Amino acid sequence: MHEQHDVPLSTLTTMRVGGPASRVVTAETTDELVDAVREVDDADEPLLVVSGGSNLLVSDDGFEGTVVRIATSGITPESADYCGGAVVRVAAGEVWDDVVAHAVAQGWAGVEGLSGIPGLTGATPIQNVGAYGQDVSQTVAQVRTWDRQEQAVRTFMNADCAFTYRHSRFKGHSRYVVLDVVFQFEVADLSRPVAYAALAKGLGVELGTRVPLSDAREAVLEQRRARGMVLDDADPDTWSCGSFFTNPILSRHEFDDLVERVGERLG
Ligand SMILES: Cc1cc2nc3c(=O)[nH]c(=O)nc-3n(C[C@H](O)[C@H](O)[C@H](O)COP(=O)(O)OP(=O)(O)OC[C@H]3O[C@@H](n4cnc5c(N)ncnc54)[C@H](O)[C@@H]3O)c2cc1C
Repeated sequence: MHEQHDVPLSTLTTMRVGGPASRVVTAETTDELVDAVREVDDADEPLLVVSGGSNLLVSDDGFEGTVVRIATSGITPESADYCGGAVVRVAAGEVWDDVVAHAVAQGWAGVEGLSGIPGLTGATPIQNVGAYGQDVSQTVAQVRTWDRQEQAVRTFMNADCAFTYRHSRFKGHSRYVVLDVVFQFEVADLSRPVAYAALAKGLGVELGTRVPLSDAREAVLEQRRARGMVLDDADPDTWSCGSFFTNPILSRHEFDDLVERVGERLG
């Protein structure tokens, strides 16, 4: 664990904006992470957890409190067979796209569609990170957290994570610090069925087709690059802040209502 003072948060966020944090503690092990968070909470001081900084917009005034920066590591297979799949524990601090690349190389299917998403693994269950017809709720088996309210480690099985579209029980408050995530991947050389029309078109296949895992990853990266969605530190033209929209999901009643309102507007 190491500590720095008056660190510009612009150096820890992908948007490269943000004033200074009074104190930044970098946690390289899960024990250090828990200790750092517990120490701040015991002192009743403000805490900001920062992972990859790709979903954070920090004011130029900075942050008066402690930033705990997650830098833990470890991709640990717990079991792997064709029946139960590959059960793999990933530390919160692992770079998400490295995890996807590793899964593709190992023949673990289920996250290839999530290639190129910036940030670290611990942040993925929070907003149920998703793209190109996949989201992490499809492969997360467990999320192990530090519960700041109960001051205890608490593990949530997938069914208890309340995953919905870009949401989960972990979003919208800072009670839980994600320590690691257990994924259950399918052991396969082929991707999960392609579930996104533009991706199927790019691959030249029908929706629902399974393609080699590496082809799926490359096709997703190609789509993302074309939309300026793959960050490259060396290329300022890629310093995108991502999409700030979510696809609307309407009930039948809301949809009928919308169609009626559109009809009224069009006269
Ligand atoms: C170019 C670009 C493309 C993107 N594309 C997608 C996309 O396709 N799909 C998608 O879903 N999102 C996308 N995003 C959003 C972003 O990448 C995700 O939200 C990502 O999961 C954020 O991870 P991070 O590690 O950078 O989190 P940070 O920005 O560091 O943190 C985000 C929030 O989560 C909290 N947090 C982070 N880690 C933890 C933890 N371990 N425990 C508790 N709280 C934590 C932080 O306190 C903060 O409130 C994109 C963003 C950019 C900039």
